[in-house]
Amino acid sequence: MDNFCILKRGYHLSYDHTRFSDFTFKNLRLNLRYFLCGPPQSEGEGIYYRIIHNQQKTCIQCIIFYKTQWVPYHPHDYHPFYIYLDAKNCVEFLLIDDGHHFSKLIPIKKNNRQFTQNITIFLPDHGLTNQLGRISKIFKPKLLPLLPEQIVKWWTINNMAQLKLRSKLIDPWASGLIPDKPTQKDSIIYRLNHLVPLKMFPFAEKDLYFTFRDESICPKCQSLDTLDFMSYYYNNTTGNHFLTKKMTCKNNHTYDIRFNFKKGEIEYF
Ligand SMILES: [Zn+2]
Repeated sequence: MDNFCILKRGYHLSYDHTRFSDFTFKNLRLNLRYFLCGPPQSEGEGIYYRIIHNQQKTCIQCIIFYKTQWVPYHPHDYHPFYIYLDAKNCVEFLLIDDGHHFSKLIPIKKNNRQFTQNITIFLPDHGLTNQLGRISKIFKPKLLPLLPEQIVKWWTINNMAQLKLRSKLIDPWASGLIPDKPTQKDSIIYRLNHLVPLKMFPFAEKDLYFTFRDESICPKCQSLDTLDFMSYYYNNTTGNHFLTKKMTCKNNHTYDIRFNFKKGEIEYF
């Protein structure tokens, strides 16, 4: 495990989910729901979680995991949502993956009343939305600990089933993850855009800047690319593990990157 950075230095991990059993907090009751798909419930499926402590702040990382997504088909489907708490264990905000790993910020008011927020797993691509309420069905989440071994196992799969959350899993306060203001875009329209062959609603594309995935920056023109699957390799001599990718940016510059698992960061060549 020494060759994998699974947590930013200075942070601490815990797995005590009695602190948030049933996703009930001082100022929030989070209802998990599903609509036009099923909840993750077969063996090995469920909501993988871990709790990250950063001084007085806490982030509960959850990854909804399905072994298979049928439409469009691919093995292993991961949809993260993160719950951010302050020093008094009040929820400050939620980040949900509302499709294609874009992170959507949902602020939560810090008054004494308990607010109810619905998060629905929606459509066969299993993206999350807060825009559906009672028409979806509630389910009791099956919680599974997101252990270091599990993360490494998912990270080193050498095909599209690979877990593509890397540096923003290691650090849930990393730049490029948390939008500075609540997301305005209509995410359901955005996702429909990606499920049909034509972009029917081009206006829905414009305010998407924050993502759960890593980004690479072209060394020549600074244009940004979101990283998907990367090839895995193991260096026998050093014992180090890497992911590599040949990049071509929007302006046709080519460069090589690799994700260094020991450092937990992207390197450029
Ligand atoms: Zn470029």
